[in-house]
Amino acid sequence: MPLDVTRAEPHPHEARRRLEHARTSRLAQLRALDETERSSDDHLLSAQKAAMHRVLEEIEEAFTRVDDGTYGICVGCGKPVPAERLEILPYTRHCVVCQGRTA
Ligand SMILES: [Zn+2]
Repeated sequence: MPLDVTRAEPHPHEARRRLEHARTSRLAQLRALDETERSSDDHLLSAQKAAMHRVLEEIEEAFTRVDDGTYGICVGCGKPVPAERLEILPYTRHCVVCQGRTA
C-alpha cells in the first residue's frame, strides 16, 4: 500500500465495520423482499430487489477500495469524501458535488 497517498478517513478498520453493517442490513432487506414476493406478485418488488443487488455490488467494490487504500476518496475529483457522508453512505464512490454531476 503506498504511503505517500493522503490517507482518507475513516480508519480502514472502521470502514470495514461500517461496510459489513451495511451489507448485513441489505441482505436482511433482500431476504424480507424474497419472503414478500412469495405471497404477492407486486412488480415493484423486483425493481426493489434489483436496486438492493446494485447496492450490494457497490458495497463489495467498497471493500476492495478499503484493501487498496482508495476508500473514502471521491472517484470524480480525487478529494476525500466527507466523513459525515461516509457515515450515511459507507459505500459511496462520490462526494456530494460529483454525485450531483453523475446523478
Ligand atoms: Zn468529488
